[in-house]
Amino acid sequence: MMLQAEFAELEEIDGVRMTWNVWPHSRLEAAKCVIPFCTLYSPARQTSQLQVVEYDPVTCKTCGSVLNPYASVDFAAKIWTCPFCHTRNHFPPHYAGISEASVPAELFPQYCTIEYSLPRLGAQSPPAYVFVIDTCVPEDELVAAKTAVQQALTMVPEYAQVGLVTFGTHVHVHELGFSECPKAYVFRGTKDYSAGQVQEQLGLHSQAAQRRGAGPPSPLKQGGAGGAVPGSRPGNRFILPLSDCEFAVNQALEELQRDAFPAVAASRPSRALGTAVAVAAALMGGCLPAGSGAGRLMLLVGGPCTEGSGKVVDKELTEPIRWGGGPTLYAFTFNGPPEPVLLDVSSITPDRILLLDAYFYVVVFHGSTVAQWRKAGYQEQAEHAAFKALLAAPQDEAHAIISRRFPTPRFTDCDQNGSQARFLLAKLNPSATYNTSSALSSEIIMTDDVSLQVFTDHLKKLAVQS
Ligand SMILES: [Zn+2]
Repeated sequence: MMLQAEFAELEEIDGVRMTWNVWPHSRLEAAKCVIPFCTLYSPARQTSQLQVVEYDPVTCKTCGSVLNPYASVDFAAKIWTCPFCHTRNHFPPHYAGISEASVPAELFPQYCTIEYSLPRLGAQSPPAYVFVIDTCVPEDELVAAKTAVQQALTMVPEYAQVGLVTFGTHVHVHELGFSECPKAYVFRGTKDYSAGQVQEQLGLHSQAAQRRGAGPPSPLKQGGAGGAVPGSRPGNRFILPLSDCEFAVNQALEELQRDAFPAVAASRPSRALGTAVAVAAALMGGCLPAGSGAGRLMLLVGGPCTEGSGKVVDKELTEPIRWGGGPTLYAFTFNGPPEPVLLDVSSITPDRILLLDAYFYVVVFHGSTVAQWRKAGYQEQAEHAAFKALLAAPQDEAHAIISRRFPTPRFTDCDQNGSQARFLLAKLNPSATYNTSSALSSEIIMTDDVSLQVFTDHLKKLAVQS
């Protein structure tokens, strides 16, 4: 069995993460897996170990798959068999020299991901960013999301192309090329749309079909009403160079409201995340020339998909959902360098500073003694330089985390027993609560939730019983 570290190593190479790293052996075992089998693939993931080659990929003549380490190779006949469609393909002439002792990079088992760096003639299309914003969030989070996008827009170059899709119960595609007033096309959140349907509804369908080679553009239509102007990018009402749509996109963001269909009490909001991603992907497919330049969907999401395709949980809060966000907790003390500690309330001690990185927020938490010293201003005194350095270390680390992450995490600087301490306590395992008879911890969490220890003990008991 592979260790977690080895899976992490593979993720580092291939950008692939799976919910399960073992495969069920039977239909029954598969049915017992409550967490669905899925793969998260990050094709643009930055990796230090990427093999880059500067020649064209060898592709399967039937399915177009690229030669890879899983292909079986007949070195004598110079033939490789595609692992996807089992077609036997001849190697191109310049691979004539291959043998067991001399194989190209794409056949090395460790190069299951390689990058082809190819010189291409002709202009590349500028990068495109389509911002996909969840409006089923509290007002302050929506304001933060808008601010983050506006901040991002100040950093992308003016020639970069920008699009805007917002979603809640329904999905809105904003027409940034319409300058008179904010205008958006609405798609039902519960409906499954094909890319063609989205493009047709947006009026992109005919141009997209032409670019896929369905037929040459009619010279009569060119330049006429509704036809593509030669040299212009079809669909340029939706994804435009920032210099042409900066006003429109900012206006749309400023007027953006929370979802008009408020959540019913004790239920989750109706969030059509899957449909929004499908619509945004179809929008990109319809507006951007295929294979020319980088396009990214920038998702700003406030919760799980509860509506339409990709739904992961029902709206009723009685149905729980598993969640992570894998926060990390580090302790800073006088006794040595910072060290990772358990995400447990017992990690709180009066003489420690804790740094919680919960991705969307970062907390620096001072134990009660440290907090008292800080209030007394010991750090200002020359003889307490070590204390000054101890206070500064987690602050520096927190700001380093914040500066390299997008969207910018929220920063909380708090003390034990202070009101802001809840940002840390909410993430900790409640091994000590007001119910615990012999709490060894210097802090307790006011909750009726059971600790992980109680939960696993109970789980073991149930497993043995059955
Ligand atoms: Zn094939």
